[in-house]
Amino acid sequence: MSPPMAPQYQRTCENCHRGVLTPKKIYRMGSGTATVGRIFLIGSIIGAIASALLFFGMLVYNGGKWSSVAGSPSQEDIDNKFRRGCVDSAVQKFQQAGGTSAPLPAIEQLCECSLAEIKGTDYSETAVTAAAQACLQQRRDGTLAPLTQDQQDIYGNLMGDSGPSSDAAEQAAVERLAGVLGAFFGAGLIGWLLILKKRVLQCVVCGATVEAS
Ligand SMILES: [Zn+2]
Repeated sequence: MSPPMAPQYQRTCENCHRGVLTPKKIYRMGSGTATVGRIFLIGSIIGAIASALLFFGMLVYNGGKWSSVAGSPSQEDIDNKFRRGCVDSAVQKFQQAGGTSAPLPAIEQLCECSLAEIKGTDYSETAVTAAAQACLQQRRDGTLAPLTQDQQDIYGNLMGDSGPSSDAAEQAAVERLAGVLGAFFGAGLIGWLLILKKRVLQCVVCGATVEAS
């Protein structure tokens, strides 16, 4: 028989000096933005599925490379459209949700991770959801890969890029769809970020919170 566990050490509130702090999980960005986050999330998943279906209407997926039935945009073009759509959308949604300065490096990391995760899948609802969740889990765990110098350069160049590199109508359409898919992904990632919870200690008397270490 091991001795009974010592009662958990409880801190007294530094605000009112009366209440005891108890562990609690709260939304990182307040419950109002969490609601907005859920709306983004639902909308973006539906949107991602819809655009994935559109993708399949135009593209033939062949040995890890997209090839268009009509035109033939390079994999790089499609990837860059996804990146740009993802970042643009995430920044926009972040600002709509009341965030002032979007965490651009974090968004870029999440978008790059999503791109890597979803490439080579069938772009199904399951694949899209799994990719987004895998990347957000990595972010929570602190294992999300930082961007390489090459990737940083790509994102830097995307910000100044103003459209499809080719004027071929089919290619532009395919790239636009990739952009849409990326955009929905970005919105979904921000939705997830907004509904993430954090652990805090909350006073039972006055409700003051402190970060749980
Ligand atoms: Zn208190």
